[in-house]
Amino acid sequence: MIPNALVKEFRKAKNIVAFTGAGISAESGIPTFRGSGGLWEGYRVEEVASPDGFNTNPVLVWKFYDERRKNIFKAVPNTAHTVLAKLENYYNVWIITQNIDGLHIRAGSTNVIELHGNIWRVRCTSCNYKDINEDVPLKDLPPKCPECGSLLRPDVVWFGEPVYDLEKAFHVAENCDIMMVIGTSAQVYPAAYLPLYAKQHGAIVININPERTPVDDYADFSIHAKATEALSSLYQKLQEAFQEE
Ligand code: NAD
Ligand code: ZN
Repeated sequence: MIPNALVKEFRKAKNIVAFTGAGISAESGIPTFRGSGGLWEGYRVEEVASPDGFNTNPVLVWKFYDERRKNIFKAVPNTAHTVLAKLENYYNVWIITQNIDGLHIRAGSTNVIELHGNIWRVRCTSCNYKDINEDVPLKDLPPKCPECGSLLRPDVVWFGEPVYDLEKAFHVAENCDIMMVIGTSAQVYPAAYLPLYAKQHGAIVININPERTPVDDYADFSIHAKATEALSSLYQKLQEAFQEE
């Protein structure tokens, strides 16, 4: 599954970036969004993941996020998350994730850019109040700001909203030797441009996904496998390689 030429690239590399999507958390039991017939865990996406949807029915939106929080609360990081954390022992690693589940941080990765925010954070719709809220289930929906009384919303990025830390993400993409793209359909721009940008700045691009995605058109290596299988094989090969050194 892992060609020797790929191991060779890792032997030369110093800076690694992993760009991850919902697929990396699928094996932790967190459903991805695509392929569900326009429904997201039984809800219409535009109703529960857009500013308009929130203005129309904040309680419905909070119920949806409450369900997702219950599911994510039960989930634990899988081998793919933990291998990425362990790579920090050998490389300068940055994770750029589109996921809001916080599993990379729980797995022990330290440099994590969460482009779409984090489901355990809430923020006020009027003032600058932000906080961590880990109540499962949430109490008294919809929650209100303790400072000004306005509605609190999940601190996640919805359709039509700008992503967080994009400039920083492009900066690390520009400066990496290897860009691993894991479990993302790579269809949501501008984030989907990150691997191509890395490639244009000299990085080796590896796509890890059981399905073909647009990244395969320019990736140096395509590994059509599940994230846990691909990452555990890769880690085993790398350890063998490091022992030889
Ligand atoms: P996505 O665009 O990242 O697509 C999921 C990809 O994962 C698909 O290409 C699929 O082939 C692949 N995949 C499925 N199982 C896999 C596995 N075991 N290993 C590797 N790859 C696998 O994400 P999406 O589901 O289309 O969601 C769009 C957006 O919704 C995301 O960018 C994210 O912000 C949000 N979302 C987040 C989570 C989460 O936090 N875990 C879950 C669902 C959706
Ligand atoms: Zn407030």
